[in-house]
Amino acid sequence: MNVDSKSLPWQRIVIKVGSALIAPNRNGCSSQYLLSIANFIVRCRMSGTQVVLVSSGSVAAGAHLFKGVDTSPITIKKAMAAAGQSEMMATWDRLFDFNTAQILLTHADLKNRDRYVSVRDTIEELLDNNILPIINENDTVATDRLKVGDNDNLSAMVASAANADTLVICSDVDGLYDANPKIDTNAQLITDVYEINAGIYNMAGGVTSDVGTGGMKTKIQAADKAVSHGIDTYIVNGFNEASFNELLAGSSPGTHFHPHTKPMQDTHHWMKHTTKIQGELVVDDAFMMEKDSTGDLLSPQDLLEVSGEFSAGDVVLVRKDNGDKLAKVKTNYSSCLLNFVATQNSEHISEQLDNTDEPILSKQYITLLGA
Ligand code: GLU
Repeated sequence: MNVDSKSLPWQRIVIKVGSALIAPNRNGCSSQYLLSIANFIVRCRMSGTQVVLVSSGSVAAGAHLFKGVDTSPITIKKAMAAAGQSEMMATWDRLFDFNTAQILLTHADLKNRDRYVSVRDTIEELLDNNILPIINENDTVATDRLKVGDNDNLSAMVASAANADTLVICSDVDGLYDANPKIDTNAQLITDVYEINAGIYNMAGGVTSDVGTGGMKTKIQAADKAVSHGIDTYIVNGFNEASFNELLAGSSPGTHFHPHTKPMQDTHHWMKHTTKIQGELVVDDAFMMEKDSTGDLLSPQDLLEVSGEFSAGDVVLVRKDNGDKLAKVKTNYSSCLLNFVATQNSEHISEQLDNTDEPILSKQYITLLGA
């Protein structure tokens, strides 16, 4: 197909490729399906579109190196990921005649604002220097508490961080159907989605992949995150070369999730879609009264109780002791220190904290929740 790749509308695109495309038989990497994806990436770049690749496949690519071994322990999966990641990167490298860069992330890197900004800046520099960033979750170090868990959601977090205008998520079906197309022959493809509501999530059901960890549900979650950042999102069949030719020709081969016309402001989006609540602070009424003033959101004597384990820079839920949720907000202090403050609550501690530059809670990163 002859595609005029000079007229692509995208400035910056993130494409997410799953394990089943990279190591279809869990027997090492295969270029069988990657050639058409690589060709798509090359054509995008030739037209001036910047591309970020989110690539799964480390565990699937590394699996064949552990033959005859019990692969159920998590340590074996981590070892597979470590070995498979370099095999996967080498496979991509062979398909391109330009440089690539590996970025391995965990949720811990994205939920912390400083690290998030650092990831964003690095992606920006790589793109400015015509290097293709290839991003995966750092499965070797991620514990349950620290991981995103699936690369669909990761790709939406990356697309938001990178300020992309388009996200393409490759699937093993043509897009979102109103029923599972693998078992229901009457299932209809949904071509356009303008609002991601409970009905859309219901359609995704529990359809999962045999090789990766994602499924249609995580793809919808990813689309939900991306469209609220103003990002056009497509779920397409990554096994079908025609999908990429259609995208290049300006049409949608699968399901197109249309972006919100009024996207969320970046810091609010990060608070809502990238951070997770790591703990809770119970506060007295003085908390909300301070919010518009020049004072701090929370003074030490208004902190009644602390629960959960969190570090400085994490996001916590602030609530009243009657249970009303007040806000999701970034804390500048760890749970350990705040526990001490809440239990001691002496004027001496208050004075000490008041004398530091850092308020307990950040005014810049707060989302009010209402009662
Ligand atoms: N990060 C995992 C891997 O590279 C895959 C996660 C996913 O399939 O979504 O194997």
